[in-house]
Amino acid sequence: MTQAAAEALASKVKSIIRDVPDFPKKGIVFKDITPVLADHAAFSETIGHIAAQFKGAGITKVLGIEARGFLLAAPIALELGAGLVPVRKKGKLPYKTVSESYALEYGTDTLEMHADAVKPGEKVLIVDDVLATGGTAAAVCALVEKIGGKVAGISMLIELEFLQGRAKLPGRTIHSLIKY
Ligand code: AMP
Repeated sequence: MTQAAAEALASKVKSIIRDVPDFPKKGIVFKDITPVLADHAAFSETIGHIAAQFKGAGITKVLGIEARGFLLAAPIALELGAGLVPVRKKGKLPYKTVSESYALEYGTDTLEMHADAVKPGEKVLIVDDVLATGGTAAAVCALVEKIGGKVAGISMLIELEFLQGRAKLPGRTIHSLIKY
C-alpha cells in the first residue's frame, strides 16, 4: 500500500471509530472500534494493512490482548501465516501460565499467557486496539521475554499520542494506523 493509500485508509477508519465520552468512567473518551469490525471493507483493509507491515519479519505467533485485541489478532495471525495466542486477565486460562503484574492508576493488574504458548527464540507480534499509557503492552513484552520469546513488533489500531505510551516501550517496533 502506498503512503497515500495508507493515509486514506487511516482517515476512513478514523471516521468510523466511535468516540464514547465518559466510558467506562468520567473523563475518559472511549475509542469504540466495534463499528470498524462491523464494516467488512474497513475491517478487511485494516487487517491487510496491519499484516503487511510485519510480513517477512519471521513472526510465528500473534498475541492478542484481552479482549478487543483478540478480535484484531486472530485475522492478523491468519494473514501472517502465524499462530494465535491469547493474553488474558488473571485466572481465565485453564493450563499452566506465566504472569506479569503491572501498575494501574489505582492498584495493579495481572496478565497471563499459557507457559508453552511461545517457544524460546520464537518471534511474536503483540496486538491490541488502543495504545494508551503503554503499561499493558510493556507488561506483555515482559511476559514474552520471561519465557524466552522475542518481541518482533507491537501493533495497535489506535495510538493516543498525548499519553506517550511509546516512552514505556523504548526500542520497540510499534505500528499504529490511527493517531490522536
Ligand atoms: P494502557 O495500558 O494505558 O496503554 O491501556 C491500554 C488498554 O486500555 C488497552 O487494552 C485498551 O484497549 C484500553 N484503553 C485505554 N484507553 C482507552 C480508550 N480511550 N478507549 C478504548 N480503550 C482504551
